[in-house]
Amino acid sequence: MIIAIDGPAASGKSTAARALAKRLGLTFLDTGAMYRAVTLVIIDRGIDPNDEFSCQTVANSIRLEFDEEGKILIGGMPGEPAIRGPEVTRHVSEVSAHSGVRRALVRLQRKIADESVAAGGGVVAEGRDTTSVVFPTADLKVFLVASPRVRAERRATEEGAPERAAEYEKDLQRRDDFDSSREDSPLTETRDAVRVDTDRLSPDEVLEELCELARV
Ligand code: C5P
Repeated sequence: MIIAIDGPAASGKSTAARALAKRLGLTFLDTGAMYRAVTLVIIDRGIDPNDEFSCQTVANSIRLEFDEEGKILIGGMPGEPAIRGPEVTRHVSEVSAHSGVRRALVRLQRKIADESVAAGGGVVAEGRDTTSVVFPTADLKVFLVASPRVRAERRATEEGAPERAAEYEKDLQRRDDFDSSREDSPLTETRDAVRVDTDRLSPDEVLEELCELARV
């Protein structure tokens, strides 16, 4: 079984997808973590995030895997929490706009899903293009949305700085604009995706709604 969940930044995708994967005994596939991992290596190596060729070379040469908890490993080393740092967040949309980077990561995402399915399981994937490009024939597609203010408040609270919600809102907006307007695989709500608005839902309620959908 393949379940694909897309949506804008901080719409609650990771929390929902991770919990759903656990509930259904499937592999959680955090595609954003992969773009963040490539971006982290690019920054560490002093590469310009706009240098498409070098970014693509990094994406094709580093070893990315997930541990049993669904946390990314870069060359066997934990990518968390470094991949969530502000420098990576600032540059990840530029890096993920490069077609060569996307090709390398989409290939790996499909390989992870194929292996999981072959072993009798499946994946719950989340990101920006999992419903449209990576898994166009997924068994269930969900598009999670929440208002910019709610998303910013959630992210600021997670980071332990609720007073900085307005600042987070600007940053999320900048990333959403970039992710929705790039030429290759922009964030798109596909016609066959079920839209779930999480503004008034707790994480548990989102999980229950997704479980309902997954049973269809
Ligand atoms: O989901 P997360 O916020 O960690 O994703 C970080 C960034 O990675 C996004 O803003 C987007 O630029 C990129 N991304 C992408 N395609 C995906 C997942 C993430 O372009 N499938």
